[in-house]
Amino acid sequence: ESSEIGQLKNLYKTAADVYHYMLTTAEIGEQALDYLHQRGLTDDLIEEFGLGFAPSQDFLKTYFETHGIGDYQLFRKSGLFTEHGDGSLVDRFHSRVMFPIRNASGQTIAFSGRLLTKDDKSPKYLNSPETLLFEKSKVLFNFDKAKSVIRRDGEVYLFEGFMDVLAAYRSGVKNGIASMGTSLTDDQIYQVEQITKKVLVCYDGDQPGQAATKRALDLFEDSSKIECEVVNLPEKLDPDEYVRKHGTESFKKIVHDDRETVLEFYMRYFKEGKNLGTESGQLAYITDVLGETAKVSDSLQIQLTLGRLAKEFGIDKMSLESQLRVLKQQLG
Ligand code: ATP
Ligand code: MN
Ligand code: MN
Ligand code: MN
Repeated sequence: ESSEIGQLKNLYKTAADVYHYMLTTAEIGEQALDYLHQRGLTDDLIEEFGLGFAPSQDFLKTYFETHGIGDYQLFRKSGLFTEHGDGSLVDRFHSRVMFPIRNASGQTIAFSGRLLTKDDKSPKYLNSPETLLFEKSKVLFNFDKAKSVIRRDGEVYLFEGFMDVLAAYRSGVKNGIASMGTSLTDDQIYQVEQITKKVLVCYDGDQPGQAATKRALDLFEDSSKIECEVVNLPEKLDPDEYVRKHGTESFKKIVHDDRETVLEFYMRYFKEGKNLGTESGQLAYITDVLGETAKVSDSLQIQLTLGRLAKEFGIDKMSLESQLRVLKQQLG
């Protein structure tokens, strides 16, 4: 390990520690701590995930300087600051709750900071830029802690956001991870594939979350042997909202018991925005579902889907099967 990487890791460790102190102990962090408590996070959870608070624009730089930590060049490379035209540095994160992003070994290599109250000027979540330590496309939030649970349970939950991972965690669902606010990369899929064959996609129940679910299923379909199922949360809720509204026990039950197969997901998903009262709507829907069915190899799942389509639209199952064969040939 180059000494520069070691220095950056030390800097991040110190930053995580002081942000954490500001949240949990300093008076200035009181409002942020209240905010997290209001969102249902306990002190234990805040401790476990090392959450913090970045108070003001010159806080971290002043802290490093007064303690003789690091130097200008290291600060520049750290991504913890933004550089002005004249070369001066100011803290990148301020007035934000800080989520340490840890690598698979549990070392902090980046942060994501959330505004206490969303405004229109700055993004709700702000991430560290890419650095020597941090390649966004390779990191999965909570992978360090979740790994052993994923191996034990033989499955992993994929969530959209950090708060969802935390909400699941406090419900006792500790095998949850999230990508860094973007869709999954091949590298992330590869890492998951090394330790499990089963992914439960549990994205937000809203429209963007459902569209992201389809993208995730496509990615896993294309690039891995992983089997996916989908957890569909009701009322367009995200996992964090669900836990706050219905409680941890209900969440735990729903993610265990209300799983859809990939084809069940598509049978629901493709109904969106189509008028099934018309024949053209019905044809478009059936074609969409058969298109996905053609990619599935599990013959029982296929038969169940064809049976349901046949029943719902009063079509002969044989003609669905012959149409499916045509689609399969087109796929090659
Ligand atoms: P919260 O519950 O704190 O409002 P969320 O996780 O529900 O957050 P979403 O809007 O559902 O937020 O977005 C999902 C994820 O996408 C976030 O956890 C974050 O990683 C990322 N994200 C959301 N908004 C932004 C943004 N403005 N800039 C960068 N990343 C973002
Ligand atoms: Mn969302
Ligand atoms: Mn959300
Ligand atoms: Mn949320």
